[in-house]
Amino acid sequence: MALLSPVSSSCLPRLCSQLAAHDAVVDTKSRVCLSSASSHLQRSLIHKCYLDKRESHGFKVSASASVTADVSTAEVAVKSPIVKGDTWSIHKFGGTCVGTAQRIQNVANIVIEDSSERKLVVVSAMSKVTDMMYDLIEKAQSRDDSYEAALDAVFEKHKLTAVNLLDGDELASFLSVLTRDVHNLKAMLRAIYIAGHGTESFSAFVAGHGELWSAQILSAVLRKGGIDCTWMDTRDVLIVTPAGSNQVDPDYEESEQRLDNWLSQNPSKVVVATGFIASTPQNIPTTLKRDGSDFSAAIMGALFRARQVTIWTDVDGVYSADPRKVSEAVVLNTLSYQEAWEMSYFGANVLHPRTIIPVMQYDIPIVIRNIFNLSAPGTKICRAPIIEAEVKQDSVAYVKGFATIDNLALVNVEGTGMAGVPGTASAIFAAVKDVGANVIMISQASSEHSVCFAVPEKEVNAVAKALEARFRQALSAGRLSQVAIIPNCSILAAVGQKMASTPGVSATLFNALAKANINIRAIAQGCSEYNITVVVKREDCVRALRAVHSRFYLSKTSIAVGIIGPGLIGATLLNQLRDQAAVLKEKSKTDLRVMGIIGSKKMLLSDTGIDLSNWKELQNEKGEKADLEKFVHHVHGNHFIPNTVLVDCTSSTDVADHYHDWLHTGIHIITPNKKANSGPLDKYLKLRARQRQSFTHYFYEATVGAGLPIMHTLRDLLQTGDKIIKIEGIFSGTLSYIFNSFVDTRAFSEVVMEAKAAGYTEPDPRDDLAGTDVARKVIILARECGLNLELSDIPVQSLVPDPLKETASVDDFMQQLPSYDSDIATKRQAAEDAGEVLRYVGVVDVKNQKGVVELQRYKKQHPFAQLSGSDNIIAFTTERYNKQPLIVRGPGAGAEVTAGGVFSDLLRLASNLGAPSC
Ligand code: ADP
Ligand code: ASP
Ligand code: MG
Repeated sequence: MALLSPVSSSCLPRLCSQLAAHDAVVDTKSRVCLSSASSHLQRSLIHKCYLDKRESHGFKVSASASVTADVSTAEVAVKSPIVKGDTWSIHKFGGTCVGTAQRIQNVANIVIEDSSERKLVVVSAMSKVTDMMYDLIEKAQSRDDSYEAALDAVFEKHKLTAVNLLDGDELASFLSVLTRDVHNLKAMLRAIYIAGHGTESFSAFVAGHGELWSAQILSAVLRKGGIDCTWMDTRDVLIVTPAGSNQVDPDYEESEQRLDNWLSQNPSKVVVATGFIASTPQNIPTTLKRDGSDFSAAIMGALFRARQVTIWTDVDGVYSADPRKVSEAVVLNTLSYQEAWEMSYFGANVLHPRTIIPVMQYDIPIVIRNIFNLSAPGTKICRAPIIEAEVKQDSVAYVKGFATIDNLALVNVEGTGMAGVPGTASAIFAAVKDVGANVIMISQASSEHSVCFAVPEKEVNAVAKALEARFRQALSAGRLSQVAIIPNCSILAAVGQKMASTPGVSATLFNALAKANINIRAIAQGCSEYNITVVVKREDCVRALRAVHSRFYLSKTSIAVGIIGPGLIGATLLNQLRDQAAVLKEKSKTDLRVMGIIGSKKMLLSDTGIDLSNWKELQNEKGEKADLEKFVHHVHGNHFIPNTVLVDCTSSTDVADHYHDWLHTGIHIITPNKKANSGPLDKYLKLRARQRQSFTHYFYEATVGAGLPIMHTLRDLLQTGDKIIKIEGIFSGTLSYIFNSFVDTRAFSEVVMEAKAAGYTEPDPRDDLAGTDVARKVIILARECGLNLELSDIPVQSLVPDPLKETASVDDFMQQLPSYDSDIATKRQAAEDAGEVLRYVGVVDVKNQKGVVELQRYKKQHPFAQLSGSDNIIAFTTERYNKQPLIVRGPGAGAEVTAGGVFSDLLRLASNLGAPSC
């Protein structure tokens, strides 16, 4: 305000005492002693004239004798035609837009290029300057004398900027203003330092200097560019009154009169006005509170009845969610006033929440634009825009965006004595009001048993105390059972025109949250139908935001994938993912994003998704030392994908031991690793219980029969109520190959050697011949059928001759194996003589609750006798498939099919998480 800004240092003590007096008692008279410069006196007198006019409801100027010298000016003000209306366009430039000299020049160019007849440019302080100013006060208050150096830094920043942009008289004049202001600020901060305290008015006065300086610099730059431009100290025009909860309300009537007056004296068609700052009705400097420049611009838009308010910032417009949290958020072309209001109220800080109301009453559109990307058209906020025809039927179209507010606490007032007692809610909120807390949302069940509301965390203790005091009697009488605080909460709001009245929208929202394993603490849906609000734990908030955003807005299921063990199967899976990713995205709206690959030595991490066409090179170039904990943290902790799956392609027990904790933290697991499911029974049961409790998915199709649909078939049978009697199968591709080839006069050892040479066996063929791997598969199937068996409960007939079990080397074993051929040759001959073949099978005898792995004989026409190569075959005998078992047959080993099995689990996961079926 002009009353204060050019104050001389001799006036400073008076200024300080005046600001202090305001904080104690508002004293309108003391204003006069501050107005040292004649122009300010003049303005204050004019202001008085206006006050008189307001009182008499007329336009007669009734100045007192002592101000006769100024009456003529005041009369001019009243008589001159004041141009307002749609010839004016308002621009507001945020802190980043005026963050450097070059950017200020850029802003000036944009202003110059706007062809509007009249322009009002509202500016914020250069970026970070307001923070620096508040920091000065903070430092001075806490008697930290580094405030002086900090103020010098502020001075230097502005001086340097001005020197870069201006020259001649303009530069000299700005530098003299800056020097004087800084001098005054130093004295004022010194006073605060000595007192160890500064009042709110002091703070507002100090903090507002950022805007004073940026506005003066910009207007000088515009003048340098040949524009007839004046700067406006909005403290001369904008009058606001405190409205509690860190808010102010504009006094439109008074501000309008002051504006008319200001315009009458400043006929320029281009005006640069300070954002953020204003005056109280007593002409005390104040602010519109943090980020208030948007609000300033909107008020100015209303006062000028402008054609449009353009808010220039550093993003392309209003996004469907905070782009820092959801990198896939999209820019919204249009928003209704209500939608924009709800978005900003619920935390989209691209727009100050109070920005909408002033312009809405005059139907003035707001356009949000990116100063760094002029080609982006931005977001237009206006009266209810029409929903685009092509998406009209889609519920997604009714949801515009999502926003979040952190640092909240829920207060839950509960008790049977509340039901049907009139006035309970009003008593609760009266208590909250008494402590000046801001209630952000309220939810009350219709049973009236509890009232639950969210307040800023920093206010919750005071609220709880006030409630306990107010309801002491009800609490001790047991009519109220408790006033409970749930700290560390966040609000997530979905915003959209009429969304709350569109069937299916809420269901989809809650479903997306459930699928992402997010617990909802409270729900509110305003009758306005513009928003649905949920309260979640703070640590879940970003994930919740990503989950709902990806489900709703992008209509896509996004899953962050971490691959553990990029060996043969892992690498094949990565190739399959690479080839199929685009199709999946397009057809089933599924986005499988590999965020990390970890081997035994190295790991490769990415924030946005690894390029699978050259992950090996990337791993060599950018890979870091493998660290499983860091890896998991990275994949799960990414900022935009709501779901995480870890794909364990190892056969390691150590990795499997982590599943329990991973599931607990909401990570899904997919694996061909048999260790967890065939390990100790108690561990397995705990793992499954944890998985069910945490609503996570754990799929392991490829643990049995590689890519063959065995687990899937079994689960379908069980879930549809069939009773499994027996599962019998050839589960080892190696042993299948060996017995399919063990014909005629061939020696068993010769066939084993051939299988080894062809790469069908493990490096040590005894690992196959011992039958342990088959036993593990039998255990996995048995447990799936509900049998609580340990691996040691399964009798396994090993095909490794006893004396060779301890043979040290594989070569020794292979050399000695022929000497044991006769035993198995005899068995084969006996089978042959009976028209049968030998097959190495695993059996789950569900009826008798046991399992076995052994060599059995089957008739030559039995399906098990018909196999070729390394095929697996599994027969399910069930109540439904009793006479003829249900048979699944096909290749049950090999990297391609195993990886294919893992891949199909990934897709099953996606569909469980909401991906549409093709
Ligand atoms: P200015 O200083 O220009 O006023 P702000 O920092 O106040 O800029 O607001 C712009 C910032 O708001 C963006 O940089 C962005 O990070 C953040 N933001 C939060 N939510 C949204 C959203 N839904 N759309 C766009 N930006 C958002
Ligand atoms: N400069 C003020 C702040 O940082 C106002 C604004 O930029 O909107 O809070
Ligand atoms: Mg802002």
